[in-house]
Amino acid sequence: MISENLREVRQEIQKSCALVARPTASVTLVGVTKYASLEQTKELINAGVRHLGENRADKFLLKKQALADFPDLTWHFIGNLQRRKVKSIVDEIDYLHSLDNLSLAGEIQKRAHKELKCFVEVNVSGEESKQGIPVAEFEDFIAALAGYDKIKVVGLMTMAPFASTAAEQRDVFTQLALLRDQIQSKALSWAPCHELSMGMSNDYPVAIEAGATFVRVGSALFQEE
Ligand SMILES: *Cc1c(COP(=O)(O)O)cnc(C)c1O
Repeated sequence: MISENLREVRQEIQKSCALVARPTASVTLVGVTKYASLEQTKELINAGVRHLGENRADKFLLKKQALADFPDLTWHFIGNLQRRKVKSIVDEIDYLHSLDNLSLAGEIQKRAHKELKCFVEVNVSGEESKQGIPVAEFEDFIAALAGYDKIKVVGLMTMAPFASTAAEQRDVFTQLALLRDQIQSKALSWAPCHELSMGMSNDYPVAIEAGATFVRVGSALFQEE
């Protein structure tokens, strides 16, 4: 049951926060609804989740429209965003978790009518198949975003390698936290960069211990039994 799954995830978040002496409220749970039906999504909202994550522009728009009766939702776009889809969603989402190239930044700048909160996605693990800007380039990338007044870099995002061990996950998440600190210490007006979006169903406890402020959890909320 979704409400039971949610209770367990919240408990796990609380436990991980306690381990590192962080307040539970310092972690925002983004319920990833990309595999969930509309009914399941409503069930999750009714159970108390207000931050929702989607990764396909068309599906997101349909879902948002269908859920218009819930006025207090915050929408996170967590997937690879194609340039040609920017126009249709940029004013409809609250956070973009996957900013990793200037061509996308330019399209957002051109199409957005208000400032968009963005996470710069960093490929910390160096996996070739991964989205995200390489670590070696990410500082220059953030510097280059100075001229884009529609983009506010609120934090960094990453994904641990597929099928990685807890130790490998911890390593990746800890590195992202250090990169975040590095940018944050510059106090850039366009990149306050205080947030860390990291942790999915199989690694969010480790991510929280390493400092995650947004966890993106899907399958753990919607699994059966
Ligand atoms: C699907 C997805 C998630 C959620 O994954 P689960 O393993 O189902 O929790 C989180 N982040 C991104 C970028 C995703 O695409």
